Amino acid sequence: MGSLGTHNALGLAMAKKARFLLASTSEVYGDPKIHPQKESYWGNVNPIGPRGVYDEAKRFAEAITMAYHRAHGVNVHIVRIFNTYGPRMRIADGRAVPAFLSQALRGDPLTVYGDGSQTRSFCYVSDLVEGLIRLMDSEFHEPVNLGNPHEITILELAQRIKELTGSSSPIVHKPLPVDDPLVRKPDIARARELLGWEPKVPFEEGIRLTTEDFRRRIFSEASSR
Ligand code: UDP
Repeated sequence: MGSLGTHNALGLAMAKKARFLLASTSEVYGDPKIHPQKESYWGNVNPIGPRGVYDEAKRFAEAITMAYHRAHGVNVHIVRIFNTYGPRMRIADGRAVPAFLSQALRGDPLTVYGDGSQTRSFCYVSDLVEGLIRLMDSEFHEPVNLGNPHEITILELAQRIKELTGSSSPIVHKPLPVDDPLVRKPDIARARELLGWEPKVPFEEGIRLTTEDFRRRIFSEASSR
């Protein structure tokens, strides 16, 4: 999907002379050896690991997008999206923010994988959308990181969500998934300079807005997923 779908969409963009936005990912950096991650870093991906199909599909998508730009002049834009959260995420999609929020609100244990010392940097959705629009309106064609450089450990994330929801759920530890990146934090110097963009919504505010939405959906039977 990520690879063949991108190839097909590029063909369509070429035929229609459309602007093209590739939603790429911080996963192209794999388990990074450079911290924070700048766009010039080529990454450290295990091609045959359990995340390999996704990571390599996105890396191929970037490669073919640049090839269509160079060979056919397609007006492409590539964004490397770092961890993003907000209202209307699927409650059971398994990612850390919806998992911890729904566990905290239901009084279930918060499932931290490994010792929770791995880090991520979470961006509120409205900040990301603003960056996407600015990138689409630019004439820049190489990858741009969009994310919030505010980095926290996953254990800290679980603790903060517990506090902010007023939950008395315990925190339990589960095995760390294979190839789970140890650290992740965007270097957003390029986005700042090119787009005059930086995230505005503080973590507490973003979690508050997301909690309101989760509370409504979890406790109303009609739309609990
Ligand atoms: N994680 C966790 N418990 C969960 C879901 C995720 O500890 O119930 C961890 C996961 O192992 C990773 C981090 O939280 O280290 C972020 O995971 P997520 O799936 O949200 O995003 P990604 O791994 O793509 O950054």
